[in-house]
Amino acid sequence: MKYIAPTKEEFFQQVKSYITNEDSLALIEKAYNYSLEKHKEQLRKSGEPYFVHLIAVAYELAKMKCGPKTIAAGFLHDVMEDQDVTKEEFIKEFGEDIYVLDEAVTKIGNLKFNDEKEYQAANHRKIFIAMAKDIRVILIKLVDRLHNMRTLEYHSREKQIKIAKETLEVYAPIAHRLGIAEIKNELEDLCFMYLDNEKYKEIAKLVESKKPVRDAQVQGMIDDITKMLKSHDIPFRIFGRSKHFYSIYNKMTKKNKRFEEILDLLAIRIVTETELNCYEILGYIHNSYPPMPGRLKDYIAVPKTNMYRSLHTTVIGKDNKIFEIQIRTEEMDEIAEKGVAAHWAYKEGNYDSNKEQKEIVSELNWLKEFEENENSANEYMETVIGDVFNANVYVMTPKGRVIDLPQGSNPIDFAYRIHTDVGHKTVGAVVNGVMVPLNTPLKTGDVCEIRTSNNATPSEDWIKICKSKQARNKIRSYFDKKELEEKQETIKLGEQYLKEYCQRMEISEDEVLNKDKLEKICSDFTCKNTNDLLFSLGKKSLSPQSVVDKLVKVGKKQLDTEVLDSILKKNQQKRNKAVSKSGVVVQGVNSIKIDLASCCTPIYGDKIVGFVSQGQGIKVHRDCCPNILNKKRLIFVEWDDKKPDVKYIATIKILAKDRNFLVTDLVTCISQYRANLTSINVTVNPEDLIATASISISVDDAEHLNTIMANIRKIDSVLEVNRMIK
Ligand code: MN
Repeated sequence: MKYIAPTKEEFFQQVKSYITNEDSLALIEKAYNYSLEKHKEQLRKSGEPYFVHLIAVAYELAKMKCGPKTIAAGFLHDVMEDQDVTKEEFIKEFGEDIYVLDEAVTKIGNLKFNDEKEYQAANHRKIFIAMAKDIRVILIKLVDRLHNMRTLEYHSREKQIKIAKETLEVYAPIAHRLGIAEIKNELEDLCFMYLDNEKYKEIAKLVESKKPVRDAQVQGMIDDITKMLKSHDIPFRIFGRSKHFYSIYNKMTKKNKRFEEILDLLAIRIVTETELNCYEILGYIHNSYPPMPGRLKDYIAVPKTNMYRSLHTTVIGKDNKIFEIQIRTEEMDEIAEKGVAAHWAYKEGNYDSNKEQKEIVSELNWLKEFEENENSANEYMETVIGDVFNANVYVMTPKGRVIDLPQGSNPIDFAYRIHTDVGHKTVGAVVNGVMVPLNTPLKTGDVCEIRTSNNATPSEDWIKICKSKQARNKIRSYFDKKELEEKQETIKLGEQYLKEYCQRMEISEDEVLNKDKLEKICSDFTCKNTNDLLFSLGKKSLSPQSVVDKLVKVGKKQLDTEVLDSILKKNQQKRNKAVSKSGVVVQGVNSIKIDLASCCTPIYGDKIVGFVSQGQGIKVHRDCCPNILNKKRLIFVEWDDKKPDVKYIATIKILAKDRNFLVTDLVTCISQYRANLTSINVTVNPEDLIATASISISVDDAEHLNTIMANIRKIDSVLEVNRMIK
C-alpha cells in the first residue's frame, strides 16, 4: 500500500473545485512555486524530492476544503525550519497571517514528546492544542503527520516505533476529538501496522479471508432493506461499511472479545436527507427486523462530544445474522468523516477566519455544555480558551473517568464539570477517601467523589471560590435564573396594576395593554423594553397613570405630525368655518354636525381633537382620550374665542377612605362652587372600606372643573380624584 502523492494537475483540480477567486488561486500558485524552488535541493528519506511531501500536505488540506491561506501555509510549513528562510522574508512574501500559522506548526514540530510518566499523553495533547491556538494549525499538523506516517517505511525501526507511538497517543486522539474520522482511522491503522505488525497482519488476513462471505451477507441485507424502504418513498442511499483494523484490535483487547464476535457484526449505513427521515427509516427497520434491546443509540438528539451525530441500532436481520445499522443525513455523514473540517469548509465570498474559529468551537459538542450559561460570544471564547486550552489538572471520578480542570480547581469545579445538577446539589466532597472542604485545590491523580443532596442549592460564595469559568457561569446562571423568575413575577404584577387602573378608569384594556404601543414609550421611562416597563410598574416605581398618560400623548404626537398639519393648512386656505352650540369650531366647512364625545365629555377649555365619524358628523374628543388612539380620520378643531352660554357635563371619580359624612362633604364642596350635581353613585368595598364615588356635574368650563377637583382633593380622607374617560 505504497502512497503516491498527487500530481500538480490533480492538486489544482481539487483546489479549483471550490476556490475560484483569482487572488486566492494566485496565492496558492505562488506558495506552490516558492516551496518548489526553495526545497529543490532537498530529498526525502525515500529519495523523492522533498516537494512531494509539501504537495501531499497541501492536497489533503484541499480535500478538507481549507481556505487559500491554510493551503499556502501547508506548502510553506517546512520552509523556515529546513531552508533558513527568515521571518522578515517570509512575511514580506506571504504576510503575517500565514507566518503565524507556520510558526505555530514549526513550534509544535519541535516539541519533544516522550512517554514515561502517567497522564503524559493527555498532557501532550493539551500542550499541542494550547500551542496550536488555531484549528488551522492543528489541521496542517495532522495532515503533515498523516503523510509522514504514510511514508514511514523509509525510517529506521527505532524511529518508526517512536513516531508511530507518538502518533497513536497524541495525533490520533486529537483527530478523534475534532471528529476527523477519516484521518484518525488511517493514522491508527498505520500506527498499528508499525507497532504490532504481527497482530496487524493476522487481523488483516482474517478480515480478508472472511470478506467474500461477509460481503454476500451484507449485500443480501442491503437488497432487502432497499426493497422495503423503496415502498415508503423516502430518499436514501445504503451501503456496507468495513471496520478499520485498529478498531477491531481494540475491541478484541479492551472489550475482551473474540475476533469472530466482532466480525459477526455486519455493518450497514443508510444516509438520507432530513433528521425526520432518519427516525422514519429507524421505525421501518425496527418494524421489519427485531432490534436488540439496549442497542439503540440516538446520537442525533444527544450528539457525541466530537459533534458526531447518527442513529445506531442493532437488529437481527436476514438468516438471523446481527447487523449494526447507522442512520444519518448527508450532513451528519460528512461531519462523521471530516468532523471539524466539514464545518470549517472554506466558502468563497464571506471568509472570516475569526468567525470560523468561533463557529467551530461552538459546534464542538464537547464544549457545548458551556453554552447553556453563555452570555456573549466573547465570554464563551474566554471560557473555552481558559478552561480547555489551558487545562492541566486531571482528576478522576471513583469510576475512573478522567476530568480535566484548570489549575487550582476544587471539588466545586469538579462537580460542575460532571454535571450541572451534580454541581447544584453538592454538599460535600471526598478526595482520596478523606472528606475535605469544598475549596480544597485538586491535584492531578486525585480521586474525587461528590456528595449530593436533593434539597441542596448552590451557595453564592461558590462564585468566588470556584476556579473554572464553566462552574462560575453555571452557578451564576442558576442565580440569574432565580432572579429572572422573581422578575417574571414582578412583571406579572405590573401588568395586573395596569389592568386594574384601566378597569378603575374605565379605559379600554386593549388600547393600553398592547405590546407594540407600550414598546414605543419605553424609552420615555428609561426602560429597555416592555418587560422592563412592566417590571417598574410591578415594583411601583412607576404609576399606571403616568404610563397611560404617555400612551395618549404618543398617540397624539403621531396625529400632530402626520395628519394635523396638512389638514390645518388645507382648512386655512378656505375662509368658512362651522361653530357648534357647544362652542367647537371646525375650519373649512360651512355647516356640519358637531357633537361632544360621550366617552371623554370635553369641556370648554380642554385640549380637543375632532374625529370625522361616518355619516354622523364630527365627534369632538379630549386629546387624552384613549378612544382616538389609532383613529385615522382625525381633524383639527378648536374652541371658539367666545365661550357660548352653555353648561358642560363632566364625570369625576373619587376614591376615599369611607367615613361618616363623606358624601355630604363632597356634595357641599361641589355646591360651594356653584356646580350642579346631575348624578352621584357611591359604592364602598367591604374589604378595604374604600369608597368609590362617580359624580357627574355640570360646569362652565375646564377651569371651573379644575377648581372643583382641586378642592375635592383637599377634603379629608379623599385619596384620588380623576376625570373619567369611558
Ligand atoms: Mn512536514
